[in-house]
Amino acid sequence: VHHDRAPVRVGQSALRVKSVIAVGSGKGGVGKSTVAASLALTLRRLGSKVGLMDADVYGPSIPHLLGLTGRPAITESKRIEPIRLGDMPVMSMGFLIEPDQAVIWRGPMLHGSINQFLGETDWGDLDYLIIDMPPGTGDVALTLSQAIPLAGSVVVCTPQEVALLDAVKAISMFRKVNIPILGMVENMSGFMCPDCGKTYDIFGSGGARDKAEELDVAFLGKLPIDITLREAGDAGQLADVIEHNEKARAPLDAIAKSV
Ligand code: ADP
Repeated sequence: VHHDRAPVRVGQSALRVKSVIAVGSGKGGVGKSTVAASLALTLRRLGSKVGLMDADVYGPSIPHLLGLTGRPAITESKRIEPIRLGDMPVMSMGFLIEPDQAVIWRGPMLHGSINQFLGETDWGDLDYLIIDMPPGTGDVALTLSQAIPLAGSVVVCTPQEVALLDAVKAISMFRKVNIPILGMVENMSGFMCPDCGKTYDIFGSGGARDKAEELDVAFLGKLPIDITLREAGDAGQLADVIEHNEKARAPLDAIAKSV
């Protein structure tokens, strides 16, 4: 992704952004939201202006991962004021519904809410807007691709064969709606025992790199199973890990630099 792109705009909206990056996966539970949030935080740490949009409207987990709560206010100019983590604007369906409330959408409502998030949120000037996509389905990808030119997508998967098959579907879904594939990230790729230093390939390792090669897409890097990431995500403190834990953030730095 080039930093010297001209900013794109959605209609008359307040969004002025150089690169929109969608983070997707074939199925849930592979760490897509963790990677999306960590990528946004890492790009910000490396000096970019970043916004994070949670388009996983059925299972919004970004507010929880970042420890954010609150209701977005509507400004006088009828814009949605996003919730901010420091200077990073974040928008999620999670800010609009009760935590235990299920979201039941019809297609047009989904389409409308994604367009509102994009076009009516007061994002300001951004270098990157990172979008956490819902797993699997193509309707949000289709809506996005019609609303805004995306720089591309990052597909997250685990090294397991079943997860890789789902990742292949995600790639073909992005291709169908003409969203370029920036590459694949292998998450939960091995676990290094902190006591003995030995690496255990719990879900396997290396499968995504091979699959990426086979599909002719870039391999952006791997993220090991790291208990600090899981604990920080559960505690709403993912930002602290990215800011302060050099060991945990090192693989994320490499991934952020490769997008
Ligand atoms: P998805 O968005 O694909 O459903 P999440 O990002 O919500 O997945 O992650 C699912 C669970 O796995 C969360 O509890 C998260 O903290 C954990 N997790 C994700 N990636 C890692 C990792 N690399 N190491 C340890 N735990 C992880």
